[in-house]
Amino acid sequence: MVASNVMEKIVSLCKRRGFVFPSSEIYGGIGGFWDFGPLGVELKHNIKNYWWQTMVRNRDEVYGLDSTIIHNPKVWQASGHTLSFTDPLRECKSCHKRFRADHVKNNQCPECSGKLAEVKQFNLMFETYVGPAKETANKAYLRPETCQGIFTNFSNVVDTVQPKLPFGIAQIGKGFRNEITTGNFIFRDREFEMMELEYFVKPGEDEKWFDYWLKERLKWYTDLGINKKKLRFFEHPKKSLAHYSKRTVDIEYQFPFGWAELEGIANRTDFDLKNHSKFSKKDLRFQDETGKKFYPFVVEPSLGVERIALVLLLDAYHEERDNKGVRVVLQLNPKISPYKIAVFPLLANKPDLVKKARLVFDKLRPVFHTAWDDIGNIGKRYRRQDEIGTFWSITCDFQTLEDKTVTIRDRDTMKQERLAIDKLTKYFENKLSS
Ligand code: ATP
Repeated sequence: MVASNVMEKIVSLCKRRGFVFPSSEIYGGIGGFWDFGPLGVELKHNIKNYWWQTMVRNRDEVYGLDSTIIHNPKVWQASGHTLSFTDPLRECKSCHKRFRADHVKNNQCPECSGKLAEVKQFNLMFETYVGPAKETANKAYLRPETCQGIFTNFSNVVDTVQPKLPFGIAQIGKGFRNEITTGNFIFRDREFEMMELEYFVKPGEDEKWFDYWLKERLKWYTDLGINKKKLRFFEHPKKSLAHYSKRTVDIEYQFPFGWAELEGIANRTDFDLKNHSKFSKKDLRFQDETGKKFYPFVVEPSLGVERIALVLLLDAYHEERDNKGVRVVLQLNPKISPYKIAVFPLLANKPDLVKKARLVFDKLRPVFHTAWDDIGNIGKRYRRQDEIGTFWSITCDFQTLEDKTVTIRDRDTMKQERLAIDKLTKYFENKLSS
C-alpha cells in the first residue's frame, strides 16, 4: 500500500465510523481542532487508562495529579514560557501565509513561491483573561504543557505522600499550543491531550534514570503491538535543546509523511523547581532521609494522546484480499480497541435467537466494552467489526438454543470455536490479561 494512501484511508475510516470529526464542521471547521466521535472517545479512554495503569497504578513510586489548565501567569514567567516558548516563524511577503522556519527549505514560499520575510519568534501560548476586565493585569494563558502544574504542586504532593527519591508525579490533561501550521490529520493540533510523567531523581543519577525511561517507554509501544521497525530514537543536537533541557531524545514513528516525533523524553534538570522557588520565594527543595536539602533533577516522558491514537490507527490498518473483495482490519491490541467483543443473533428476525443473544450481551457488557449488531448478514457484521478493531465476535445460532453454546470468531485469524455461555467471562478475562 502506498504510504500516503494509508493516511487518506485512515482519515476516511475515522470519519465514516465515528472516530474523529473536524471540530465545528458545520461552520467549515477550525484549523488544528478535532472532535472525537463514539468510537474515538472509547479509543482515547482506553489509551489514557492503559497509560495510567502502567505508568501510575502498577508502580509503587508514581503518584497522580489533576491540576488546572489555567495557572497564575507567574508560573509561565518562572518556567520561561512567556519568553521562550516560541517557534521560528516566516511570513510570505506575497500571500502572507505563515510557516515554521524549520519546516521550509529556502527563502521561497511553499504555497505561492513568493519571497519569505526574515525569521521572527512567535509565542505559541494561547492568551485569555481571568475575570470581567480585559486588562493586562488579568492576562492568563491556556497551558501548553501539563507539567508546570506538577512543579507548582511539588511540595503539596511531597508533604502528603512523603516519598523517597526516585519518585514520579503523573498527569493527563489538555494542552493548547497555537501552532503556526497544523496538519497531517490529528498529528499536530492546537488543542490536544498530554500524558506526562515528571520523575524526580537525585542529581547525578539523572543520566542513569534517563536511559531507564528511554528503554521503558520504547517497551511500552512494543507491548502494545506497535511495529518495532517503525520506531526509533532521535537524539536532539545540543544546540537545538529547549531552554530547560540537558538532553532530549524523541521516540519517532515512521508516519506515512516521514519519521516524526511520537514522544519526547527530556532531562529537565532542576531548572523548573529552582526557578519556581526563585519566583515564588517558596523553598521547593527536597529533604532526604539524612536531612539534606536539594533540588531533585527531573526526567520527563511526555506523550500526546492524539499522536499515539494516530500511530495506533496507522500501525493497525491492514487490508486483505479474498474472493469476496477487500477485508479491512484494524489489528488493534484488544486492550485499546473501542470494543473488545460484538454479539450477534444469527438472524435478526428470529425472536428466540435475539432474546438469547441479548442475554449474552447483557452478561458481558458490564465487564467488557461490548457492541450489539443485528444489521445485515453475519458476513457483513464481521466486516464492520473487523474495520473498527473489535477483537471477538460472538454469534448465537440455533445450536445455542439447544446446548447454551455460542461461536466465538477471532478477528485476526478468523477462526471460530464454540464455548458455553457461562464460560465466556472467564475466557475473555484470561485472554485480556495474557
Ligand atoms: P514539535 O517540535 O514537533 O513542535 P515539541 O518537541 O514541542 O514538538 P513536546 O513539547 O516534546 O513537543 O511535546 C510532547 C509530546 O506532546 C509530543 O511528543 C507529542 O506527542 C505531543 N504534542 C506536542 N505538540 C503537539 C501538537 N501540537 N499536537 C498533538 N500532539 C502534540
